Amino acid sequence: MMEPVTNFDLAIVGGGPAGYVAAAEAGKAGLKVALIEQDKNLGGTCLNRGCIPSKVLLEARDFMRPAFYEESTLAWQMSRKEAIIAKLAEGINQLMLSRGITIFTGRAFLQKDGSLLCKNGDNTEQISADKIILAPGSKEAELPFAPFDHRYIVSSTDALSFGKAPHKLVIIGGGAIGLELGRVWQFFGSQVTILEMLPQIAGLDDKQIAVLFERALKKRGLDIYTGAKVLKIAVRRETTAMGEGYEAAFVQCELSGEVTEFLADKVLVAVGRRPNTTDMGLIEAGVQLDERGYIVVDENYATTKAGIYAIGDAIKGPMLAHKAETEARVLIAKLINKNAKVQVSNIPAVIYTEPELATVGLSEAKAKKLGLKTVCGKSYFAANGRAQSMMGLQNGQPLAADGLVKVVTKAETKEIIGVQIFGPHASELIAEATILVDKKMTAHEVKYTCHAHPTLAEALHDACENIV
Ligand SMILES: Cc1cc2nc3c(=O)[nH]c(=O)nc-3n(C[C@H](O)[C@H](O)[C@H](O)COP(=O)(O)OP(=O)(O)OC[C@H]3O[C@@H](n4cnc5c(N)ncnc54)[C@H](O)[C@@H]3O)c2cc1C
Repeated sequence: MMEPVTNFDLAIVGGGPAGYVAAAEAGKAGLKVALIEQDKNLGGTCLNRGCIPSKVLLEARDFMRPAFYEESTLAWQMSRKEAIIAKLAEGINQLMLSRGITIFTGRAFLQKDGSLLCKNGDNTEQISADKIILAPGSKEAELPFAPFDHRYIVSSTDALSFGKAPHKLVIIGGGAIGLELGRVWQFFGSQVTILEMLPQIAGLDDKQIAVLFERALKKRGLDIYTGAKVLKIAVRRETTAMGEGYEAAFVQCELSGEVTEFLADKVLVAVGRRPNTTDMGLIEAGVQLDERGYIVVDENYATTKAGIYAIGDAIKGPMLAHKAETEARVLIAKLINKNAKVQVSNIPAVIYTEPELATVGLSEAKAKKLGLKTVCGKSYFAANGRAQSMMGLQNGQPLAADGLVKVVTKAETKEIIGVQIFGPHASELIAEATILVDKKMTAHEVKYTCHAHPTLAEALHDACENIV
């Protein structure tokens, strides 16, 4: 049954970091806002099957050691994860309530007249609004020759909820998701192999950092192959030497010109994500998508249909929660005041393995490609007192505090245009680096900015000091 039309100032499709942050900001500014989400929880991929569950499981290393792995411990970690998701989801609900947002649960379809239908089972509601923000996010990309069967060939969502650690886990893709989930299952006792097609993991173009990062992860037990082109994944029935039958997956890949086969209990396909923009009436209503399915927007996030905007993973750019959130804040500021001087500029990227990797702005290689003359400064955590005091043990042996901070500046002015950090707590240190790049500060200014001692942040200071 169709409910009567409801009029809002703003309707938002998708309750992930892009959608709920936009709703919170618009509500704060006094707009009458509708937020439509098809899942039972708000929070989107990030909260329910992305950033948060992966970080909860990565932190499991603080609670347990693989040597003492038991299924009950894994079950306990999974219930800890669910409890944290539920608590944070409730926090978002409370925020929406406090900002006066009306939440519709159901799948939104855009109509040709610019209104939205929200369908939930037999119930359909029509929602009209002066403006609409599309924030439908993204979903896991599949390999065309090996679709997910969710048993042997699994997605990142599946890999956040395995009931027991696979004995052998092969991960296709050495990006953030593949590496983080590789470290997670390694903690829980899996033997993890990562197959990356590119010559370097983590999409890095700084050779030194790529080599050091890969070496550090290998030293911690991840089996990593780069330049590995996966040709086929097949599930076969095999027989053990004792004559017992079992099923396993086989990953066939081209490695250094030879075809090699890897056996796995599970194969995690982590080859990227694609925008969630089909089956919701976008093209029919006049919202243009590009050839890869991203919603086409201009510099103000306006789509090709007047009054309709798009942000987050569904538009081009890094698929990151903080990018989605910042776009939400910028878009709402611009909708409220056309002349608002706000923009999304430098988006940090982090891989939360141990050690961590975090980057912002340009790498030396990228700057050179752009024709910029650069001067770079480095500082190694091996020379940082705090990093040394934090160093851990691996198989009973001391682990050196791996890593470094590299600062890239313009040769003439020493303006900081990029920072790469590989080492302990890089995810936290990158915040200072992002401000330095965003505010166009110079290595000279950082040199004379007092940094507390002993801290990891001194490595960023020292890298700048090495420039001037
Ligand atoms: C395993 C994993 C780990 C990650 N870790 C990190 C990390 O550490 N840091 C980071 O920055 N990013 C991380 N990400 C990426 C991050 O989750 C996304 O960039 C972020 O969630 C994008 O936000 P969004 O709001 O654009 O989309 P989503 O979070 O995907 O939200 C979109 C929402 O829209 C809803 N929706 C879609 N279509 C409709 C419709 N027609 N009607 C109603 N509702 C609809 C969906 O149900 C979903 O809830 C990770 C992702 C994964 C998979």
